[in-house]
Amino acid sequence: MSPEAGSEVRGVGTRGAVVGGYVTDIDRASAVDGPGNRYVLFLQGCQFDCLVCHNSCTIPPPPRWMVPTSVDETLADIRSVEPFLSGITVTGGEATLQAPFVHALFTGLRADPVIRGLTAFVDTNGDAEAEVWELLAPVTDGVMVDLKALDDEMHVVLTGTSNTRVLASITSLAARGLLYEVRLLLVPGLNDSDEVLDRTASWLLGVDPDLRVRINAFRRDGVRPCARDLLEPRAEDLDRYRSVLSAAGIRQLTTY
Ligand code: SF4
Repeated sequence: MSPEAGSEVRGVGTRGAVVGGYVTDIDRASAVDGPGNRYVLFLQGCQFDCLVCHNSCTIPPPPRWMVPTSVDETLADIRSVEPFLSGITVTGGEATLQAPFVHALFTGLRADPVIRGLTAFVDTNGDAEAEVWELLAPVTDGVMVDLKALDDEMHVVLTGTSNTRVLASITSLAARGLLYEVRLLLVPGLNDSDEVLDRTASWLLGVDPDLRVRINAFRRDGVRPCARDLLEPRAEDLDRYRSVLSAAGIRQLTTY
């Protein structure tokens, strides 16, 4: 990607400009990326380098050869499957790195008489500046945020990055009424002790007492070789996670 393209993708200063999205993949029927059946756009590029990433090919910035997809092209594709959809979700990679495209896409969705009834969701690692949420909030119906670890030190181990902006995003999205769900990726022996789970639940409930939480159990399938020796949660681990989080007061809890 050229430096010029990089600044266009990452900044929010191109508001109003015609922007395209660097789309890695499309799933036209997903039941796990937000409420109902969703059209999912996977965008290229992520600022994290998660040990347990299942889509590590989406981490590098868009390569020079990658042709951006226009908003009109994407809206036309969504229209073609509209009868089967509840909404659209942008994910990645990290979708907020392409905030101008996401904003233009969601704005176009709301203006389109055929598909304006679909909901617009963002699935994010949460590492976005306040300005990004300022931009997206007026055109977004809900946001799903991954919280890889409440403790910053463990967050750095798991992602290579501090969680300061992640926690701020969770708090500000909840205050705006846009926080749909927080997803906890749990890896045995790293971030799944009773004490950590209880403290995480307490912090989340302080943000929103009715918060929807999804346990994302670590799976080795598709991860890089350096993560293949990590343990997957067993059935009894998942039972314990549910039990500790429920006892702490999380009422809306699902497991994936
Ligand atoms: S935030 Fe998601 S896409 Fe980015 S490195 Fe982590 S798991 Fe991969």
